[in-house]
Amino acid sequence: MTFQQLGLNEPILKALADQGYERPSPIQEKAIPPALTGRDVLGCAQTGTGKTCAFAAPILQRLAAQPAQGRPIRALILTPTRELALQIQESFEAYGKYLPLRSTVIFGGVGQTPQVEQLRKGVDILVATPGRLGDLYNQKFIDLSRLEIFVLDEADRMLDMGFIHDVRRILGWLPKKKQTLFFSATMPPEVQGLVDSLLVDPAKVAV
Ligand code: AMP
Repeated sequence: MTFQQLGLNEPILKALADQGYERPSPIQEKAIPPALTGRDVLGCAQTGTGKTCAFAAPILQRLAAQPAQGRPIRALILTPTRELALQIQESFEAYGKYLPLRSTVIFGGVGQTPQVEQLRKGVDILVATPGRLGDLYNQKFIDLSRLEIFVLDEADRMLDMGFIHDVRRILGWLPKKKQTLFFSATMPPEVQGLVDSLLVDPAKVAV
């Protein structure tokens, strides 16, 4: 199987080749085709399996295929830690290097001013940890009304880290009609509850 056979097109194929990726990993093989069609995806996969590319590549391709008016936030990736958030945004930059899409990352523990500056410039893709997203949203620095794609990354870790209430609150801020890509290594009952309330007829992929 090749990335091309999964339905990815030239700017992304070239960026993946630049990264030295030769073949899709199993999670990429299973998740990219349904994600590209706009379907919800429920992925059971851990970090290290290549799941970032499994959601980032289809997001980039879908957003690039249909440019928006202005620069609203069109994709939101929620992830539990600063380290993961930074890695994910770097991946969006790498895989999207030949596309005219802008991303930024926000997380707590640092001053918010530089992050607010970035948001003011306009971003297509926002990678965030729950606490800082909530803070900046409540201060009205973030508008999620035109969101098209939502990723919940490491849902089980969100739960372990005590973010489940933050996550539920954030879900209430998102448009009802959207594509959701949901990743969790395990499926405890609270995570299953989120899945049931959030996903519509998802493609289920496990590795
Ligand atoms: P992730 O699980 O998304 O954190 O990815 C784990 C590591 O695998 C990262 O260093 C990626 O750059 C790398 N990676 C992801 N997909 C591929 C691939 N298809 N071929 C080679 N390396 C990959």
